[in-house]
Amino acid sequence: MRQSKLFSRISKTPPREEISRNAKFLVQGRFIDKLMAGVYTYLPLGLRVIKRIEQIIREEMNAIGGQEIYMPALHPLENYIITKRDKIDVLFHLESASGKKLVLGQSHEEIIVPLVKKHISSYKDLPLYLYQIQVKFRNELRAKSGILRGREFAMKDLYSFHKDENDFEKYYQSVQAAYHNIFRRVGLGDLTYLTYASGGTFSKYSHEFQTITPAGEDNIFLCEKCKIAVNKEMIEAVEHRCPQCENDDLKLKKAIEVGNIFPLKTKFSDAFDLKYIDQAGQKKPIVMGCYGIGLGRVMGTVVEINSDQKGIIWPKAIAPYEVHLILLDKQPKIKEIAEKAYNSLQKQGVQVIYDDRLESAGVKLNDADLIGIPIRLIISEKTKDKIELKFRNSQQPLLLSQDKVMETITEYYQS
Ligand code: ATP
Ligand code: MG
Repeated sequence: MRQSKLFSRISKTPPREEISRNAKFLVQGRFIDKLMAGVYTYLPLGLRVIKRIEQIIREEMNAIGGQEIYMPALHPLENYIITKRDKIDVLFHLESASGKKLVLGQSHEEIIVPLVKKHISSYKDLPLYLYQIQVKFRNELRAKSGILRGREFAMKDLYSFHKDENDFEKYYQSVQAAYHNIFRRVGLGDLTYLTYASGGTFSKYSHEFQTITPAGEDNIFLCEKCKIAVNKEMIEAVEHRCPQCENDDLKLKKAIEVGNIFPLKTKFSDAFDLKYIDQAGQKKPIVMGCYGIGLGRVMGTVVEINSDQKGIIWPKAIAPYEVHLILLDKQPKIKEIAEKAYNSLQKQGVQVIYDDRLESAGVKLNDADLIGIPIRLIISEKTKDKIELKFRNSQQPLLLSQDKVMETITEYYQS
């Protein structure tokens, strides 16, 4: 990608109205554009990041037997009357031309349970794991944290259907493992903890995945020994002790909830009378779980954690490009070297963004720090027949031959 053609031009100054670090960097670097509070467009750079996060999540969902579907965002209100969620305050209400009461989906239990009921009936159909990566609408009161808390946002939501609690419990464990994989792969592994949270009315606990950062809205108590945490809302219930080792030396931390897994028991199956026929011919209720991850929330959290004063430092697995090639000279013969390097990198399958703009060196280097591509290559009068390579997360530039540059890139992305 030639940066001179990239939509849209990186801003010289951070947006004044954004408070959170993620929104400041993501808006200034033109990853996203704000339409209104909690509602953002993903621009080309930002969409590349989201698509990579999406793909990691998809791979991990498929690995635990998930089948991907795509449900509508426009829902009939009547389904929410059945589950008594028609009055919850996050619901956006609207009406069809014929006067039918509708809502925008804030979650999909009310849609997936009737869907599954239409298509399955026997123990032979179970267990069943369905997920989607789709948009949600929530009329959030506090939409101030950039893409951490949107009014419209993409979520991966997985729903599991089981013949009994035992079968559910086993799957719940495998989803936990898959979630750990996802958060490790997107670069949040070291700071993300399985956290005991309240389960609402239908079970003792649910579990959140909480990433520790001062930007977080949640308070969690961390057990450093077990590497798990307890949400503050549950700390009384566990008598200020780790639910696993009973240690009472828990550390209070601010954190962002990046994922949530929830035992639903038969709450929604009962509401829609979703049952199966067991081997003895008996009708039994289906036991369910639901499991969410917000894609924008993950992306925003990565920025909160992986950034410095100058900008973002993307983890390699979700960076919008692998290499940022920068031409720092206006002389035609230097430009020719840069053009050749650009073509050669592309030919070798490297995802490269090439800063071919007629901007000053200062602007180009600042922009490169802001958008945070893991490897920066500089071609200038000074580099002669070599290329300067610098990792975004290090101070030390290396002056390397073209071959050595390619070797270093390959080594970095394969490790
Ligand atoms: P929160 O407690 O932060 O309001 P929640 O408990 O209502 O979130 P769930 O309904 O469990 O969230 O949603 C599953 C996941 O979707 C969350 O773990 C989070 O990653 C993401 N998510 C929830 N609300 C938002 C939002 N407004 N904007 C972006 N992502 C969100
Ligand atoms: Mg929550």
